[in-house]
Amino acid sequence: MLVPITALYAGALGLLMLVLASRVSAERIRLGASLGTDAAPSLLEAVRRHGNFVEWVPFILLLMASCELNGFDSDYLHVAGLTLLFGRVLHPFGIKHKVIPQPLRAAGTILTFGVALALSVVAMWQWLPSAQAQQTQQPQPVGTRLILLGTAGGPAIKKLRAQPANAVIVNGSVCIVDAGNGVARQMALADVPPQALRAVFITHLHSDHVADYGTLLLRAWQSGLKCVVDTYGPVPLAAMTVSYLQYMDWDIQLRIRDEKRPPFAGLVRAHNISGGGLIYQDENVKVTATEVPHDAAKPAYAYRFDTADLAIVFSGDTASSENLIKLAAGADILVHEVVNIDGVDATVNETDPGNEALKRHVIAAHTPIEEVGRVATQAKVKKRVLSHVVPTGQRAFDQPELWLQSVRKTYKGEVVVGEDLLQITATAEAKN
Ligand SMILES: [Zn+2]
Repeated sequence: MLVPITALYAGALGLLMLVLASRVSAERIRLGASLGTDAAPSLLEAVRRHGNFVEWVPFILLLMASCELNGFDSDYLHVAGLTLLFGRVLHPFGIKHKVIPQPLRAAGTILTFGVALALSVVAMWQWLPSAQAQQTQQPQPVGTRLILLGTAGGPAIKKLRAQPANAVIVNGSVCIVDAGNGVARQMALADVPPQALRAVFITHLHSDHVADYGTLLLRAWQSGLKCVVDTYGPVPLAAMTVSYLQYMDWDIQLRIRDEKRPPFAGLVRAHNISGGGLIYQDENVKVTATEVPHDAAKPAYAYRFDTADLAIVFSGDTASSENLIKLAAGADILVHEVVNIDGVDATVNETDPGNEALKRHVIAAHTPIEEVGRVATQAKVKKRVLSHVVPTGQRAFDQPELWLQSVRKTYKGEVVVGEDLLQITATAEAKN
């Protein structure tokens, strides 16, 4: 749940509103007054008790939800909610026709005013960090860069390659595709500025693609991120985001209080995606998704990034896919996963010898090297980048010349065997 504290007090206040509304109805029935108040003091009192409630409470709940979404301290939110609830309970008892002074009414009004004022100030205060950050942004380099942050395939711990992650940097603005274990460290090694993170795209929810999704966001925030980051991926990515915020809540709240960090929750906007099509667009990049087959890991997505100078497609994890061929049509770069079927036994034996279910999954869920070449040929892509290689780090299989030999049987274009931290630009490629 995104705003559990607001929901708690909205529920309690909703019950109070029902009591006030039912009192109006009961008076109307008793007096036979279907419209207006017929100048009956009891009905006039009931109408004003209910009316004052609906004039104030919905807007204050909106303020409360805004503050909660932007990471306002949960203890203070409870104080605001309890104060509002107490004020709204007192207020109706103080409304009496032609009776002044009305202490309970005055107390209810003061408490309501106080909560509205406090939450309004907090909401505006929460806006300030992002506004200040926008004013102090430095000029960014122009053009598109692709950096392979992690090129390993599979969830086991590897020495030679990091788990899947990629950076697409357009005019200094950073998009991350997949967030395997170590993605934040790999960003640092590649000099990708965490403060420039704008969006994260998760191809599917296998742990090697999402293990450090929350860590990436948290460490970016702790590294000075001040702008909103949009994240996209299959259901239940949004719920996973909320869970991670709860998991790290102790640290987040402490740093906000103790280190005067800006609110964190409001900097992350998670989106579940379903089906394909355009899912994201800003001034630098347009991102299109299509569903791809990845054995039981459903749904899984491939993403296409169109910028002013490059079209880059990420296959994610997929078996051979006609959807992917359509998505990648005419792209400059296709970053495609790959498996060498001859090396599957070696992969399985590395972690769980004899596990036939694992062997079946690896074969069914991924694209054999020869098929990768066919996909690239049919899609007419200019450059093919092999990543998420299976087996990873096995000397008998995971060597550039071996991968190249196999893929060239079915693809005559330019092939790059991916390595961690390899950088590709629109005009040239260079390894950091
Ligand atoms: Zn996978």
